[in-house]
Amino acid sequence: MVDGKIFIGSSQSEWLPHMKLLELKKTIVYGPVNSRRLGKSLGINVIPFGKKVCSFDCVYCQYGRTAVLTLRPDAQGFPTVEEVGEALRQGMKEHQESVYVTFSGNGEPTLHPDFAELVDVVIESRDELLPNAQTAALSNGTALQFPDILEAMKKLDVPIIKLDAGNYDLFERINQPCEGASFEKLIEGSKALAKLRTQSVLFDGPLQNHIGQPLDDWISILSDLKPLEAQIYSTQRPVPDMNIKVIPPERLEEIAEEAGRKAGVEVNAYF
Ligand code: SF4
Repeated sequence: MVDGKIFIGSSQSEWLPHMKLLELKKTIVYGPVNSRRLGKSLGINVIPFGKKVCSFDCVYCQYGRTAVLTLRPDAQGFPTVEEVGEALRQGMKEHQESVYVTFSGNGEPTLHPDFAELVDVVIESRDELLPNAQTAALSNGTALQFPDILEAMKKLDVPIIKLDAGNYDLFERINQPCEGASFEKLIEGSKALAKLRTQSVLFDGPLQNHIGQPLDDWISILSDLKPLEAQIYSTQRPVPDMNIKVIPPERLEEIAEEAGRKAGVEVNAYF
């Protein structure tokens, strides 16, 4: 999952063609990232360094196309629990200003073969070294269908689940999931998280999710899920599909107001 957006100007409506996609992380711990949504967030990348491993291949992903599209990746290349623990403790000692410790990085963090164990390590390290920080994860939610992942996500202070589409068809077209990553299971798993927050990337173009039926369906799902907060933003970095168009801040604010009113949920626009 992606974080730490860099906005290049409120009047910018499209990406400059020469701009490059974001480079994959080369370390386990990175940042702290000055995230608009999370403040100073120490990032934890538990995905192999050289490739994006994800159960989605989102049309707007800042890392480009998914190299390994699966829900069950081969364990080879993933950092061990010990390696993550060591890097994390070092990072926490060096960055006492961090207010969040967040699973994110080169893909979908819950696909790490020992994700549940990693959550325990993060919580224990936080309790000892950064007691005022909150633990978070930016996840696409597709692995919530697995009981161990669901239970691990429940332990985090701020589980944030991606929700870009309000219906199956749009989900397939925007997120381009791998086999087994179903919309129904994503919604079911999200409902089981008492501390659920959602994050949605809204965009314009031939494929869009910010007006008409796509917007109505998305608001309807929000109303059903009732997250503690729904975070919305638009694409703000170069994306693989040049047909994806950024939504300006004023439109995001309008959507936040409308969705909040209709769904009975706190919806915040970030830009
Ligand atoms: S969930 Fe989508 S945006 Fe996040 S890493 Fe995977 S493909 Fe990229």
